[in-house]
Amino acid sequence: MTDNDDLRALVRTIPDYPKPGIQFRDVSTLLLDGPAFRQTIDRMIALVDPDGFDLIAGIEARGFIVSAAMSYALEKGKVMLRKPGKLPGQSVSIDYALEYGTDRIEMHDDAIRPGQRVLLVDDLLATGGTAMAGVELLRGQGAEVERALFIVDLPDLGGGKTLEAAGVEPTALMAFAGD
Ligand code: AMP
Repeated sequence: MTDNDDLRALVRTIPDYPKPGIQFRDVSTLLLDGPAFRQTIDRMIALVDPDGFDLIAGIEARGFIVSAAMSYALEKGKVMLRKPGKLPGQSVSIDYALEYGTDRIEMHDDAIRPGQRVLLVDDLLATGGTAMAGVELLRGQGAEVERALFIVDLPDLGGGKTLEAAGVEPTALMAFAGD
């Protein structure tokens, strides 16, 4: 029993989505529970030092839900790392490999002032491809990225080690390992 087993019990597992062999850890069932959603945000906030970063970057789409709530509570500006073609201003982009395919994220090229410290937030860490793309995109614009925060870590997929190797400390509220 860990501190967050109450929240972990609300994450639904959908086998073979979006393709055979993938155990999809569905946080939508956690988000549907209002007090649990609030606890999720409060406990994520408790894991970070608000004086240690200037902005919070969230990855579209589920990452926006968590990062926006944290930004609101901490009064930190929010950087949107978006799917392709969504941003109206001049943008920079990066392609990356997913556990089940490839994707691209983009951000406005004027979102960051060089040297700003950015906390990266997403719902789930799997291979780390998405989070690393975010780190590289942000660092490419002059950001300092030293922490990444998730609801769920899938440690068997190695994303945490990938982030650590890149100088980013990953933290998650819960893990699903061994299946
Ligand atoms: P990755 O780039 O492999 O770390 O994958 C992380 C992103 O893909 C996150 O934004 C997740 O929302 C999504 N994702 C990847 N694998 C899963 C999974 N097994 N269950 C739920 N979401 C996943």
